[in-house]
Amino acid sequence: MAHLLLIEDDAAIRTTLLRALRERGHAVAASHTAMDGLQTALAERPDLVVLDLGLPDLDGRELLRMLRAVSAVPVIVATARDDETEIVRVLDAGADDYIVKPFTAAQLDARVRAVLRRGGTGPGEAALTVGGLRIDAGARTATLDGASLDLTPREFDLLHHLATRAGQVVSKRELLNEVWQIPYGGADKTVDVHLSWLRRKLGETAQEPRYLHTVRGVGVRLSGPA
Ligand code: CA
Repeated sequence: MAHLLLIEDDAAIRTTLLRALRERGHAVAASHTAMDGLQTALAERPDLVVLDLGLPDLDGRELLRMLRAVSAVPVIVATARDDETEIVRVLDAGADDYIVKPFTAAQLDARVRAVLRRGGTGPGEAALTVGGLRIDAGARTATLDGASLDLTPREFDLLHHLATRAGQVVSKRELLNEVWQIPYGGADKTVDVHLSWLRRKLGETAQEPRYLHTVRGVGVRLSGPA
């Protein structure tokens, strides 16, 4: 199961694909314009985006460039234009794969799974462990001493990013950058609030940390209990 974002303006196609992909166990969000799609991609940080090239407000290829400037999310382009030049262009513009309309949900699902496997964010990716914490990026699940943690997508991303840098102090600037995708500005307070929620879910406090260690004036470090 993956968290997908479908950007498609055709209501009939959108509804059919939404239902079919959900039946296949994916969590799917949908947008019917390019700008809404871009915002949703940044806010929800899906595992993969399925992007229709013919959108009402902006050419899908233009959206792909904008998305690529701020995110490495895998993108499958859905195109009615099955000419080779077009396909080469979208792959050059940063698409991970393409699918030519009309296609079935089963075909799309197969592409989605293939791209996620290739990208290393699929269910096959090895889980990260830090002490009693286990973080599975493919399944987007985390457990602490075998008990599953009920995390929001943002809390999960935060924990996952810290786990990839386990043992090192990570600055709030880097977290705003990597987890919130805010390249400039942004408030440290945002990070602090989410860290305090995460801390509560890990059953610890800032005063008596087990995993999340604040290094005053520098950032935060995730490490296993001594
Ligand atoms: Ca369209």
